[in-house]
Parts: sequence; C-alpha cells; structure tokens
Amino acid sequence: MFKKILIANRGEIACRVIKTARKMGITSVAIYSDADADALHVKMADEAIHIGPPPANQSYIVIDKVMDAVRQSGAEAVHPGYGFLSENAKFAKALAEIGVAFVGPPVGAIEKMGDKITSKKIAQEAGVSTVPGYMGLIADADEAVKISNQVGYPVMLKASAGGGGKGMRIAWNDDEAREGFQSSKNEAASSFGDDRIFIEKFITQPRHIEIQVLCDAHGNGVYLGERECSIQRRNQKVVEEAPSPFLDEETRKAMGEQAVMLAQAVDYASAGTVEFIVDGERNFFFLEMNTRLQVEHPVTELITGIDLVEQMLRVANGEPLSITQADVKLNGWAIENRLYAEDPYRGFLPSIGRLTRYRPPAEIVESDHIVRNDTGVYEGGEISMYYDPMIAKLCTWAPTRAQAIDHMRNALDGFELEGIGHNLPFLSAVMDHPIFMAGDMTTAFIEEQYPDGFEGVNLPQDALRRIAASAAAMHRVAEIRRTRVSGRMDNHERRVGTDWVVTLQGHRFDVVIDADPEGSNVTFDDGAVLRVASDWTPGDQLAELQVDGALLVLKVGKISGGFRIRSRGADMKVHVRTPRQAELAELMPEKLPPDTSKYLLCPMPGLIVKVDVEVGQEVQEGQALCTVEAMKMENILRAERKGVVARINAAGGDSLAVDDVIMEFE
Ligand code: ADP
Ligand code: ADP
Ligand code: MG
Repeated sequence: MFKKILIANRGEIACRVIKTARKMGITSVAIYSDADADALHVKMADEAIHIGPPPANQSYIVIDKVMDAVRQSGAEAVHPGYGFLSENAKFAKALAEIGVAFVGPPVGAIEKMGDKITSKKIAQEAGVSTVPGYMGLIADADEAVKISNQVGYPVMLKASAGGGGKGMRIAWNDDEAREGFQSSKNEAASSFGDDRIFIEKFITQPRHIEIQVLCDAHGNGVYLGERECSIQRRNQKVVEEAPSPFLDEETRKAMGEQAVMLAQAVDYASAGTVEFIVDGERNFFFLEMNTRLQVEHPVTELITGIDLVEQMLRVANGEPLSITQADVKLNGWAIENRLYAEDPYRGFLPSIGRLTRYRPPAEIVESDHIVRNDTGVYEGGEISMYYDPMIAKLCTWAPTRAQAIDHMRNALDGFELEGIGHNLPFLSAVMDHPIFMAGDMTTAFIEEQYPDGFEGVNLPQDALRRIAASAAAMHRVAEIRRTRVSGRMDNHERRVGTDWVVTLQGHRFDVVIDADPEGSNVTFDDGAVLRVASDWTPGDQLAELQVDGALLVLKVGKISGGFRIRSRGADMKVHVRTPRQAELAELMPEKLPPDTSKYLLCPMPGLIVKVDVEVGQEVQEGQALCTVEAMKMENILRAERKGVVARINAAGGDSLAVDDVIMEFE
C-alpha cells in the first residue's frame, strides 16, 4: 500500500479521506489556500502545503500548483475528492507522467464520461437505457426549437460539459426552448468554457436514483446498491438515502447490472456513480456517470459496511477487488442531510461568516443506530465566500427507514449552529413532511411543496403542548434560581407559583406545575398531564427533556418573559407568564414588526453588480431592480409589488451588508 498520499481538495471531503488514510497507516498531505490556513483539513493532515490565494481558480484547480505540491510532498498517490480536479483528465495525465497514482479511474474513462453527449452515446451502445432525445450538436435557437418539437415537449436543454446542476433548462414550449437554449449556452460557456448544448426529453415527476459501482483494473466490477437523491433544489441534491424507497429487487438488479456494464465498457477502475432518472412506472434512463467519489457516498457505506475511500486506494494500488457481487448485502437504511450555509428564510441565499457556535450531535455507532457527521469546519471557523456553502453532511442509520428518519430528527434538533444562516430548520421540516415520510418524493418535491420558499413550520397541537409543558418547567427552574440569587433565603420554591400561562405560535395553554425532585407533572386545563424531566439549567442553549418518556431536544435562548425555542423546523417565541401577567399582556397592544415593504433590503453580504432602475421610475411586480453578486452567483432582486422608486442608496461596485437598504419606494 502507498505510504503517503496527497489530498487535492479541501473541506469535509479532504477530512473524510484523511480519516481512512490514518486508519490504513498512510501519511496524509493536505493542500490549502490562504483562506484555508486554519481549516480543519489542514489541522487533521500529517503535513500541509500552501498552494496560493483563496479563489479556487488561483489555487485548488490550478494543475501546475497542485503538481508542484505533489512533487514537493513525495506522495505516491493523489486523492482528488469531488469537484475541483476530480474529473479532470489533464490532471490525471500529469500525475501519470511523473509516476504518481491518481485515486480515480483511468484517463480514458474520465474523458469518455466527462462529456454528456459522448457518455450517452457510449451508454446506448453498451445497451444501457438512455433518455430519448437528440444527441447531435445544436447550432442555434431555431434549430433548438425544431429539435424540441421533434423530441416533444417538455424537453431539457443541457450543456454537454455540464455539472453541479449548471447549464440546464426545462422548456415546455417554443419560447422557452429558444430562451433556454441561449441561457444554457451562456451559462455553459462561462462555467465550463464549452458551450455545446444537446436536448433530451424532460421526464416528468422523475426520481433521481443512482448506482454506486466499484471496479478494479483486473476486469472485476460490482454494484453497491442505489441511492435515492430526489430531494433537490435547483438540480442540486439536499437529502439522500440508501436504499431507495421506490425500487423493487428486480429494478435494482437491472439498474445495477446496466451500471456495471457501462463502467466496464469504458474500462472503469475505481469507485464511480451511474446516475439514472426514473419515471413513475419504474422505467429508468441513464443520465450521466460521475467518475469520482460522490458527495453522498456515506449512505452507501452505512448500508454496505464498505469503506469506499479504502476501496479506491486499494484499486489505485493495483489490488483486485476482495468482494464479489454475492458479498454485497444491503443492511438497514441510511439518510444524509446536507447542511448548507444557505438561509431558508431568505430564499436560500448563501450566507457567509463566522460559526460562533458549532456543536454537532455526538457521533454514535451502536448495533441499532448510527449517527455520522462528515464536516470540514469547527466552532470559531469561517464559512468563506470562496467555496461551496456546504457545512456538514449529517447521516443516520437504523434497521428501518422510519427509525433512520427519527434518529435524523433528533440529530437535527441537537445540532447547534449559530453565526450564519443555515438550512437546519428546512431539513427538519422535510424530515417531518408526509410525502417524504411516505417515500413518495420526486425531484419536484421542494418546488411543489415550498413554492413560496420556506417560512418555518407551524407545529401540530401535540408538539406545541410538549413544548409548552417543557417551557413552563424550564421557566419554573429559572424562577427558583432567580429568587435564590436575589437573596430571599427562606423557602424559595414555595414563592414560585404553580400556575402558568404559556403562549406560543398564537396558542395559549394554561398549566399547573406539580414538581417533585425527579421532574414535574404539568397539567393542562383540559385535564391532560405531561410528565417533564430534564437536567436543563438556565443558560444552557440546548435542552434535552423527557416528555412522557419521549426525548425532546430544544434549542433555547432567553428573551424577556420567556424563551426563543427552535425545534423541528419551528422558530418561536414562547412566553411563560403568571395568570396575572397574562391578563396584563392581553391588554398590551401587540408590537408589530417594522414595516420594511417600502424598502429593498440587501438579502446577503455581497457586491452590487448593477442597478436597473432610476429614481422616479414606476416598477411592476417581478421587475428586476438590481443584481447582487455573492458566492460567485448573481442574484437578481425583483420588485415584490408595483411601486415608484423614491431613493436609490447604492450603485454598481458597492459592497453591502445584510439588510442594508438598497432603495426606497414611495
Ligand atoms: P454529487 O452528485 O456528488 O452531488 P454534484 O454534481 O452536485 O455531485 O457535484 C459535486 C461537487 O462538484 C459540487 O461541489 C459541484 O459544484 C462540483 N462540480 C461538479 N461538476 C463540476 C464541474 N463540471 N465543474 C466544476 N465543479 C463541478
Ligand atoms: P449534473 O451534471 O449537473 O449533475 P445531471 O444530468 O446529472 O447533471 O442532472 C442533474 C439533475 O437534473 C438530475 O438529478 C435531475 O433531477 C435533473 N434532470 C436531468 N436530466 C433530466 C431529464 N431528462 N428529465 C428530468 N430531470 C432531469
Ligand atoms: Mg448529476
């Protein structure tokens, strides 16, 4: 086996590879940009080499710089992770030239599968089912319209060089085909430096299901089951699981065998993924092959017990596979949630900044459940604007899907993350969504279920009761602490009352607390009683409570007269008052949030690219007002309603902070 490897990547995937290297007794070398000098992957690696400035196109994806680091390190092999140079044939060739192993497939396989048109043709020849469409090149918008009509709407226009969900558009009619052709082409040219576009049928109500393959250089290949990745936002995966709740044994076998057939048609040797789109009748069609380790590989590891990074290293070292298809057993169910630094309350715009609090739930390996968290960050670390907004991949495993989901709910509840906007509440909402729970999702799930974005969750009555009882019990503990601190040394417990009024999410619960040394019985006015026990003490930001014997994990902050509590996708103010205080509170006029409808606020820290309107101009609902660039993405801010521009406070080139007022309306 290799003695030393270099990991040509950063973030969680670099950390992931280092872990296996350490387990196998291999010395690991990290590379890092200026922005990553203090990054976790650098701290974890045995050695680290600086390779340049923060932007990836001046560091992590500059082949010459990475090659210099490889030579300097004396590494015998390079693991590329995903993204960056992982599917770059030139990089693999450069390594071969100096006799360093590329921990990935042979150059020929990368080249053939890196291009969507070429790979589709190879798949067709290998007898793999492909999406119907036109695989030639399309010259102009007129031809795009003509071919779209031949294929039949709806169609998908795709960049042949595309990846990461970029360079693709759906079209339902001629106008959209014309427009989609142009925008795909532009996006492909700027993202991939290659503007070739092709057209295929858009499979409606589709599911994304992919097969993990593993092949060696001796002609052996196996498939390690599938991953269902249908929960996507803008063609980017958010939640994945293995196995798929949709496949039967027969379809799984057919897809697996076709995937291995395709891999062997290009002499594949390494771990790889063959992606399929599957329609409602379980017809499956080849989409593309990713010739690298996939972001969501942990769910496969959890149900097969196979360490994919170890297998990749062994194959790269020339070893034959030690497993046959008959050895592959799918055991239990695994779910992955991708935690992104994207603010769900602000249209999922990327968020950057310091992680003032980062406490993931404990990783657990037990016979009946596993919690695994793959991450590249730590508390106090920074999420920068230069790279992917992924913070962590939280995975759970259990014997059944329902149990794995339940462990995921608790793990999300216990995940403390502060300082930046993030999608934790959204993920909690998905885990509780009836369509997800039933396993009935398609790739349109997020778009269909959250058409106006995400506005938090309104919890059902029984969940509100459990939280109300917990808040009352916590409030009582805080009150006892408070009277004690204020020096009234006589029987302080008795001075704190037993009757409380709890309000949350517009509901009022009148409760009576009967406390004993082990906990409290909380009685509601309809006679129902909940037993609450916890060792929470005032100041703790995470409360783990047993409510009638079931675990309830709450994120708790102090506000005047109660708590800010976050749980299961809900973020709420919970007030706990004495009956007298409640009476007074009802008489108080409700404080309305400030009216910001007359302002266009900057939704994220970013750079104003251009302002599209002028003072005095009337704008219509949906009209573009200005463009803000953040995390390399241009975001067009549009008018929410008809109005007249009264003031403009920013111009092209200005950098703005969150909530800075860009313009005001009359
Ligand atoms: P997965 O299927 O593993 O989720 P994605 O296609 O979403 O893979 O890509 C994984 C990572 O690689 C993402 O960070 C994505 O931005 C990046 N990526 C994928 N393809 C390309 C490409 N052609 N050029 C640049 N980055 C890419
Ligand atoms: P990328 O290289 O960006 O990952 P893919 O070809 O894998 O591109 O497509 C990404 C996603 O777009 C898929 O997971 C699927 O949700 C959707 N998609 C792609 N092609 C089709 C199609 N023909 N019909 C329906 N959905 C599609
Ligand atoms: Mg894909």
